[in-house]
Amino acid sequence: MTDAYARVALPLPLHNGYLYRIPEPLRGSVEPGMRAVVPVRGRELIGVVVGLEAEPPPVRALDLLAVPDREPLLTAPLLATAEWVAGYYGAPLGLALRAALPAAMWGESKVVMRLLDATLAEGAVAGELVRWLAPRVGGGTVGAAARALGKPVWETVWRLVDRGALDLDIVPPDTGEKRVSERLLVLADHVPGLLERDALFRRSPKQRQLLELLETLGGTAAVKELREREAISDAVMKGLVDRGLARVGEAERIRDPFAGVGGTPPPALPTPGQQVAIAAIDALAAGEAALLQGVTGSGKTFVYLESVQHALADGRGAIVLVPEIALTPQTVSRFRGVFGDQIAVLHSGLSDGERADAWRLLRRGERRVAVGARSAIFAPVRDLGLVVIDEEHETSYKNGEAPRYHARDVAMVRARLEQARVVFGSATPSLESQAQAGKGLRLLRLPDRIEQRPMPPVELVDVRNAPLVLEAAPVPWSESLDAALGAALANGEQALLLLNRRGYASFLQCQSCAAVAGCPNCSIALTVHRAPEGLRCHYCDHREPVPSRCAQCGGAVHVGRGVGTQQLERLVAERYPAARVARMDLDTTGGKGAHQRILAAVDSGDVDILLGTQMIAKGLDFPRVTLVGVVDADTALHLPDFRAAERTFQLLAQVAGRAGRGPRGGRVIVQTRSPGHHALIFAAAHDTDGFAEAELELRRSPAYPPFVSLVNLVVSSAEELATAEAAEAVAAWCVRLVQQRELPIAVLGPAPCPLARLKDRWRWHVMLKGPSRAIGQVVRYAARRLPKSRQVRVTIDRDPVTLL
Ligand code: ADP
Ligand code: ZN
Repeated sequence: MTDAYARVALPLPLHNGYLYRIPEPLRGSVEPGMRAVVPVRGRELIGVVVGLEAEPPPVRALDLLAVPDREPLLTAPLLATAEWVAGYYGAPLGLALRAALPAAMWGESKVVMRLLDATLAEGAVAGELVRWLAPRVGGGTVGAAARALGKPVWETVWRLVDRGALDLDIVPPDTGEKRVSERLLVLADHVPGLLERDALFRRSPKQRQLLELLETLGGTAAVKELREREAISDAVMKGLVDRGLARVGEAERIRDPFAGVGGTPPPALPTPGQQVAIAAIDALAAGEAALLQGVTGSGKTFVYLESVQHALADGRGAIVLVPEIALTPQTVSRFRGVFGDQIAVLHSGLSDGERADAWRLLRRGERRVAVGARSAIFAPVRDLGLVVIDEEHETSYKNGEAPRYHARDVAMVRARLEQARVVFGSATPSLESQAQAGKGLRLLRLPDRIEQRPMPPVELVDVRNAPLVLEAAPVPWSESLDAALGAALANGEQALLLLNRRGYASFLQCQSCAAVAGCPNCSIALTVHRAPEGLRCHYCDHREPVPSRCAQCGGAVHVGRGVGTQQLERLVAERYPAARVARMDLDTTGGKGAHQRILAAVDSGDVDILLGTQMIAKGLDFPRVTLVGVVDADTALHLPDFRAAERTFQLLAQVAGRAGRGPRGGRVIVQTRSPGHHALIFAAAHDTDGFAEAELELRRSPAYPPFVSLVNLVVSSAEELATAEAAEAVAAWCVRLVQQRELPIAVLGPAPCPLARLKDRWRWHVMLKGPSRAIGQVVRYAARRLPKSRQVRVTIDRDPVTLL
């Protein structure tokens, strides 16, 4: 007997999807993974069939209207992967599917009928329908036909489709005209110098911001983008134009920022080390995974390329994940160079329609390799044989909204379902992966750089007692860093200067012994608060007064706090007026293609100093960079996050990996007040294993991942008090649940999040720690039962990568 009911998930936060009756003519042709058009509150929406059921629901089910797909759009393993995501992360299935399926392929859209053969129509309504449709060359929607004829037509439509008289097509919502040209804001040839700007823009800081944004974007930006992505008002743009500092021009819209990027040819032969790794990957069993731990510049990318090639030779497809497409143009170009048009690059610049096109090409097997950021883990690559995750330690592999999946974990699940192999690669693998090495993950190593190039020497400069060039500067500026920068510039070499994202929280540090005030329960840095004055733990809400002296040595204490990249830019510009400086941070890279323009300028030698946040530490390969300066390593080190040391180590190792990639060699200078910290010592020695061993030991007590699982429940609302009260209630709810079920779980908090306010919402959190299985039980229960209200939002973040 064929099932009479279909469960349909919609891209909405509903937990189960709705059950629909499958009308007689469609029975037998509906399968899970197909799309279905269903009525929802008077509208027609496209959802995904996630299951078939024989039993009717307790309330009368509505009829499903149409199934536009001949075969399932989502294959069984892909559907099962989405179901796992929903279950594991406590997200509604509709949202998990939203991550898997391009927006243009479902949701609100229309079903268009096209006439194939009018002679096959029989019956009165069918005749009317065909007469209505015949003059409509591009076809007509079912909805419009029903309105025009004044009666329901779906039954008739099914019959006509069945007979071959009609064809149904889904029109994606975004088929509106595409703009071919756009207006640009172009910087004037002469722009005021940095110091002139202070006077010029005293009353109009926004114009100044815009001018500096344009500068970093290479002098032009699309007006629409400035307006939409940067929230720059027309008045500010006009202001700049009126002053003669910019003009408005016209240009063709850039469709695919990678279209012009020619491929980089691969090296001729793998080294013996690469060969061993490639063979080991080939030898993995289906569903197995390897961790490729290779120092920066050891040629990991070539290993990926060869392994993908082997998968293709076996007639299978591959997914290659990179942390962020915009930051890794070189990696993308290497894949283009080898695989050319077999690749679909899924980047954020694609419109919904383009994304759907790429999706279809992959689904049909016309493209065999998907390259993209985390969401590409759901790419419908046919006969998936290999998944590569480059820079697997990157936090960008965790989705920041529901479903809050981690691409690394999804990859393992999907690979098992599809009998594919998995390779995680990094110079500085996450502790989670390192703890799995030799267990669930086969460990492969590339210990040396290509051509035996040495790792750059890393010098730790203790800014507490090193000679400083500028005593009162907003950022520490030592003589060592200044001299090294001067020398690099004099030699015509390039330098990278890294300054961490502005610290969210201030910490208290001893001037002499460098001890940082930490929480006695949580071993994370305590945060300095002004009102009410005191030190506070953002995990467990422990509080204590601000001491006047260091608890360890009695030395004087000072408050550490991050500064912005703009201040660094100013300092560098004043010190080296002739140097060409580019800044890369969130402010300068909002626009499409902005990263690429900045990186291209560095590549072509038009920039002497690239300064910026962690963005500049990503997998770039610039042979002319000989100096990397880390201006202040401490803000990252003392973030109130148990992963602060791990992040700092990774950041330093990665950024150091940018130096000395060419024959001229290179060096790294790290300014810090904590030169004795293990993260800095092991980073300076390029010792990833040593760091992992030391850090893992520290994660045992108090217990943190990878030894326990975490789930972070973030409570937010527009009102401070309501947020705190709701967080109390959530914590009490958790405690009750844990007690009732006798779960081995510790409930921490509630406490304010380190980022206590974000986008006009106050944020508190409750953290649960325990074995993964027990955490899973809480997540499943919380996803459905956690008390909710209109004003207060509670998000469930399982395996969080950041606790800010
Ligand atoms: P990683 O990704 O490990 O940091 P890359 O893959 O970027 O390292 O390789 C570093 C450099 O070495 C690149 O310029 C790359 O072209 C080059 N390279 C890699 N493998 C080989 C090889 N087998 N022979 C010659 N050069 C190679
Ligand atoms: Zn604490």
